[in-house]
Amino acid sequence: MSKELEARVWNQLRQVGYRGMSRDIVSFGFVSSVEIEGATAKVKLKIRTQDGATAEKARADAAEKLAELEGLESYDVKLQVETPPDPATAGQKAIARDPRLIPRVNRVVAVASGKGGVGKSTVAVNLAISLAKLGHSVGILDADIYGPSLPMMMGVTESRPRVAEDGGSMLPFDAHGVKVMSLGFILEVDTPVIWRGPMVMKAIEQLLGDVDWGALDFMVIDLPPGTGDAQLTLTQKVPLSGAVIVTTPQDVALIDARKGLAMFRKVGVPVLGIVENMSSFVCPHCGEATDIFKKGGGERTAQELECAFLGNIPLDPAIAIAGDEGLPIVVRASVEETPRVSIQ
Ligand code: ADP
Repeated sequence: MSKELEARVWNQLRQVGYRGMSRDIVSFGFVSSVEIEGATAKVKLKIRTQDGATAEKARADAAEKLAELEGLESYDVKLQVETPPDPATAGQKAIARDPRLIPRVNRVVAVASGKGGVGKSTVAVNLAISLAKLGHSVGILDADIYGPSLPMMMGVTESRPRVAEDGGSMLPFDAHGVKVMSLGFILEVDTPVIWRGPMVMKAIEQLLGDVDWGALDFMVIDLPPGTGDAQLTLTQKVPLSGAVIVTTPQDVALIDARKGLAMFRKVGVPVLGIVENMSSFVCPHCGEATDIFKKGGGERTAQELECAFLGNIPLDPAIAIAGDEGLPIVVRASVEETPRVSIQ
């Protein structure tokens, strides 16, 4: 009887939404326990948010749903709210903000990887577009000096930025609701040797200072892979709200991902979490998933290093084709399917 009642309680809770989100409180993991004693249910919600009112609304809605349940004589829904530090202010406090660089950008999120080719740019563009789809104003800056591929992925075909009528600033491109700028627009693509040191930094400063980004809720920066000087200097230029680290599941990639994590922690940038890309291969013919590399490496590494695991993305030809065509995969998917990589 109590098992059956418990199942019905969970079912009721699955019907409780969360304001601003497309899923229910159970699938978000907000319900930490359900205990049944006789015909009484004790439910505990644990929600990590800065918005206590919305969490309280979810608690009240859960109680209301339980009130409708036949056979349940009494219930108690307790809420525990954990308040995370505000990423806008919790980032690099030590870094004095240069007022000339992106003055009206609220949060800067860097997408990084230990090595190239793991899907960092793919994650960056899909993250930026997902944030835009959720109603935020978003820009993306391609700072990958080794191979600025982002304009192509975003479907931007121009190779030079436009200049404002007064000639004073560069204008970003607009693609899929996101403002786009790339190092590739102002550096010669064929001369990789000069993409080093002061020249790169000068170019990045130009992209942050001389581009009319306007007011943005988020700027996503596609960092160059690795943990060298370019990455370090960039993390010192603008206070980053956080970094997302992209890795594939192989050990070699994970070792590099650890180095990236260590670098961000050293300079005081909160690591928002790890994304494991190319986790398994999804056959386009039969839909079956095959693990090409060792499975779960990203999740294990996240656990060991005590940072969040944001999710895994399968190796799927549709993702590569979407990137090549300039129509990133989330442009085709609905918003309901995209908030796995979510930033509070
Ligand atoms: P990075 O920025 O780390 O160098 P990219 O995002 O440019 O990597 O990805 C490298 C290549 O792999 C691109 O052609 C991209 O479309 C493809 N790719 C990335 N992630 C996936 C995936 N999950 N499935 C299939 N192809 C992918």
